[in-house]
Amino acid sequence: MITDFLIRVFVNPFAWKYLLGSRRFEILEALRESQWNSLEVNLQEQARALFELVTHAHTHVPYYSRVMAQRDIHYSEETIFEDIKQFPILTKDLIREHFEELQSTDPDTRRRKPHHATSGGSTGEPVLLVHDRVTWDRSSATKMLFNEWAGRREGQYMIALWGSEREILEGGQGLKGFLRRHFKNFQLLNAFKMSERDMRGFVTLINTKKPVVILAYVQSIEELARFIERHGLSVYSPEGIITSAGTLDDEIHRTIERVFRCPVFNRYGSREVGDMACSCEKGEGLHLNIFSHYVEVLDADGIGVEPGQTGEIHVTTLHNLSMPLIRYAIGDVARTSAVGSSCSCGRGMPLLDSIQGRTVNLFRTADGDVVDGSYMTRQLHRRSWCKQYQVIQEDYTRIRIKVVLYEGTFFEKDVGPISRAIKNVMGGNCSVVFEEVDYIAPTESGKFLYTISMVGGNPSAGASDAES
Ligand SMILES: [Zn+2]
Repeated sequence: MITDFLIRVFVNPFAWKYLLGSRRFEILEALRESQWNSLEVNLQEQARALFELVTHAHTHVPYYSRVMAQRDIHYSEETIFEDIKQFPILTKDLIREHFEELQSTDPDTRRRKPHHATSGGSTGEPVLLVHDRVTWDRSSATKMLFNEWAGRREGQYMIALWGSEREILEGGQGLKGFLRRHFKNFQLLNAFKMSERDMRGFVTLINTKKPVVILAYVQSIEELARFIERHGLSVYSPEGIITSAGTLDDEIHRTIERVFRCPVFNRYGSREVGDMACSCEKGEGLHLNIFSHYVEVLDADGIGVEPGQTGEIHVTTLHNLSMPLIRYAIGDVARTSAVGSSCSCGRGMPLLDSIQGRTVNLFRTADGDVVDGSYMTRQLHRRSWCKQYQVIQEDYTRIRIKVVLYEGTFFEKDVGPISRAIKNVMGGNCSVVFEEVDYIAPTESGKFLYTISMVGGNPSAGASDAES
């Protein structure tokens, strides 16, 4: 068929390279090989890339030239992982304030074909960034590599349960949408709109089209899985399911695996810096993408946490020369892996134990205690009446729980136990207010937040995963 022929042309690396000038397949080829290098070799390579990035920033980026002079920062390739600790943390506010000064002034800038990009802005204002063309190619290549881990070669049919209305519109209509659907063999389902009728339609589509891989927001695929289970539907089992843009906790993981009878891959990324980590077929943690990012997990004082501990993710992008981000506080929380742990797959990519959520998911008491949002979600998960919910900390002593009920159900009997469980950690003077609503809106980027804390100390985080 002519369509099949065109697909083959368009998934051909040379076609892309020559027709569109993309380097994604060349980068993918390198990633396929490098992943199997020893960890030592890859760390050396990362040190070199970090050293070159810092050198570039020092020489060509006014913000960093100034900061490095002020702090008297010296560095070498051998000591770069130590030297980097002298750099200040880069927040979203600092990026906004120093947007011009953070951009490279070197003469090659235009040749890199930079373009503007924004963070997802899950809560708070999105932040504006500049990405080189090659950053986009790298990001695509990384997604293709992670797709391969889940069982999909580029060009094989994939369904994505994904996207905000805006993304659906931009990606689904017009010539661009047509090309994307036909040549990438990729179908986008609107995770934004999931009525019972829609979900039945999704299941039918999955059963007829038999996708090799399904990519989905964690919460959306969980909701679909629960729907399938509740209605006793049968569903086609793909090679793998990749979840992203949300916290894949053990229970959700098990639910998806049980219903779809396939492994679930936990991908961690954001719109502003691309994919930083993904779990492999062994599922022993998330492999850090050390080929394009340097990730640090830091405590509240900006010091690296011990192995097996939880802290905030700070990321340095290694190849985006037009606007290098060094130690960028992305607003997500992770637990590092235990001492000496490595994955039995043999890939030379270090492990993160888990992504714990977002800094906006951290609830705080006036005494300074911090409660992870997952404590709140545990209280609401699996309640028979609860179709959707969102727990919002409005101030130190007030928590609002928005709930969407299944038809004909009531939640009153559980108000007492849930309130008590929350008061146990937030303090007896904390009031818990339930609010029944018809609909809970996702964020602008289409993600759905189970928990939001509006209490001080939480940056206006906006990590949001984007699909190529
Ligand atoms: Zn592995």
